[in-house]
Amino acid sequence: MKKAIRKVLVVNSGSSSLKYQLFDMKTEARLAKGLVERIGAGGPANHAEALAKVVADLGELANGIDEIGHRVLHGGEVFKDSAQMTKANMAKAKKLVKFGPLHMPANLGGIEACEKIFKGVPNVGVFDTAFHIATMPDCAGMYAIDPKYCKKYGIRKYGFHGTSHKFITQAAAKFLKKPLAKVNLVTCHLGNGSSLAAIKNGGVVDTTMGLTPLAGLVMGTRCGDIDAAAVLSIMESEKKSPAEMDRILNKESGLQAVGGVKGGDCRDLCAKAAKGDRGAELALEMLAYRTALYIGAYNTIVGGADAIIMTGGIGENSSEVRARIVKRLGALGIKLDPKANKVRGEIAVVSAKGSKIPVVIIPTNEELMIARDTVRVLAK
Ligand code: ADP
Repeated sequence: MKKAIRKVLVVNSGSSSLKYQLFDMKTEARLAKGLVERIGAGGPANHAEALAKVVADLGELANGIDEIGHRVLHGGEVFKDSAQMTKANMAKAKKLVKFGPLHMPANLGGIEACEKIFKGVPNVGVFDTAFHIATMPDCAGMYAIDPKYCKKYGIRKYGFHGTSHKFITQAAAKFLKKPLAKVNLVTCHLGNGSSLAAIKNGGVVDTTMGLTPLAGLVMGTRCGDIDAAAVLSIMESEKKSPAEMDRILNKESGLQAVGGVKGGDCRDLCAKAAKGDRGAELALEMLAYRTALYIGAYNTIVGGADAIIMTGGIGENSSEVRARIVKRLGALGIKLDPKANKVRGEIAVVSAKGSKIPVVIIPTNEELMIARDTVRVLAK
């Protein structure tokens, strides 16, 4: 007899926390959701212990899990799609730890812990880079340096947030009633980390993050695009090591540094700017400016977008940032509907009726995308 439900566990195993969600993929209903924190710092000693806690939390629900999907930060040039994490694929993924020394050991540790605890249940890796790497052409994906470095060290643009961009691309095609293979979009994932993707015929042709998630937009604590010579100049003047400079650019820059708000939290920035703080105002304008800049560029690259899609904590919730971005898109004939723009966290068109390109909010759901990919990969 066929089982009435198809249980898929989604695991996001980070350096110090493990998030999980359990789905019934016959209906895509979420059966459970949870978080284990402070791994290795007062909580569970490692990912195996954290997972044991997940099993305890799930109780009866932990029985009969059919498949497990894992978020994995980096798939390099090897993983152009999600993949079952066989021994051979685990060995390939382990070679990519250099690209994510903080996240990759935790991601792969989560998979190994699942192999032990859920014996015989297949594990699928869903890579944050794969959606980009699958279709991005070399003219967008390569850096203009001597190719010998690219080849030797795997230096190129990989892009991140791929699972989110993929989810909203599929959801947008459905919303616009267009076949996925014919949809052209600019997808904007705006959160603590932010990235845009240019989607042509359903696939990525460019994205703003690069070799690492540091490139592109101004983010919570990351600077985004910067002249490499500026980095070298600071290193030389302040006698900073590569590791120290990495910390400055990733953890001590962006909206936090410009706006003087811890973590660069968008709500705090908006509140501070409303009181007339010039740093906070500048930070918000930098975020809006660079987002608009890339929307214009990507609209050109995709040959005219069917829609601009916004998602992520800021994209889904911040009417103010959306308004600041769209205000700069007049040359594309894009206009906001201020009343519609009040919406938060639901699928909605926020552009005005006469807008040449619609602006659509689509809340992302990376966990559901991971569960869908897991089912798809294992059905092959
Ligand atoms: P992460 O990249 O860590 O997943 P999120 O996608 O959750 O982050 O986005 C976090 C950002 O979203 C923060 O800057 C936060 O201020 C912003 N945000 C969340 N809710 C709102 C809101 N109601 N209004 C404005 N900004 C919001």
